[in-house]
Amino acid sequence: MLSMIKKIILVFSIASSVVSCTKNAVTGRSQFKLLPESQLQSMATSQYQEFLSSSKVVASTTNRDAEMVSRVGEKIRHAVETYYASKGLSKELEGYHWEYHLVENNEANAWCMPGGKIVVYTGLLQYTQNEAALAIVMGHEVSHAIFQHGNERMSQALGAQAVDLGLQVALANKPAETRNLFLGAYGAGAQAGVLLPFSRKHELEADHWGLNWAAMAGYNPGEAIPLWERIEKAGGGQRPPEFLSTHPSEGKRIDQLNKYMPEALKYYKPNEG
Ligand SMILES: [Zn+2]
Repeated sequence: MLSMIKKIILVFSIASSVVSCTKNAVTGRSQFKLLPESQLQSMATSQYQEFLSSSKVVASTTNRDAEMVSRVGEKIRHAVETYYASKGLSKELEGYHWEYHLVENNEANAWCMPGGKIVVYTGLLQYTQNEAALAIVMGHEVSHAIFQHGNERMSQALGAQAVDLGLQVALANKPAETRNLFLGAYGAGAQAGVLLPFSRKHELEADHWGLNWAAMAGYNPGEAIPLWERIEKAGGGQRPPEFLSTHPSEGKRIDQLNKYMPEALKYYKPNEG
């Protein structure tokens, strides 16, 4: 009986979130999201902990790369919070408890879960090579999280099931599948064997705003171009999995970045970096 009541409450809370979710206040794009972001945040908190405890986390107190990841993360966070506050949108970041960790892993990957739970893999650093390029990648990942791309992807994958059951019920009924879907939706599913490619519009949005956040954080957004040239050169299976997904050609991605560049450069104040 109690579970029935819970189920009904969930259906209502999800139904009302469907009605209320339309346009993203920053990007202006209409979004299809069935899941309450708060549920995804609490799932992120536990999945992040689980990931860290089963990974080799590099200590930021003794390692300069890990220290850099924390520093860049803090600056990106500050840029995002300042921008959202300036637009009266701080409420959008409610429930965020940002964390940044470098983990020992040869895969060239990075991701950010809802609530600002960021991981950078050591394998990515061969591509970033400098702090500004790392900031561009982290800005990209943060954009996926704050624009709730994972919510859209999970909503699409769960479809009617999400409306009927909600995330918590899905988790209780099918813990492994739901967990893998979640990891896949945030680009952290490689180990679980689940990789939902980000859609092209998500990638463009993340590229676009990733440049802006990096610039606002005091990093030269122009570093995005040589970064992408390095990733292109790697080619085929060597490329970071999160980034090779959906763009028709990598060269086109650089064209797009060049289009976004003037806007990002307006935000770039090198002396504050
Ligand atoms: Zn991406």
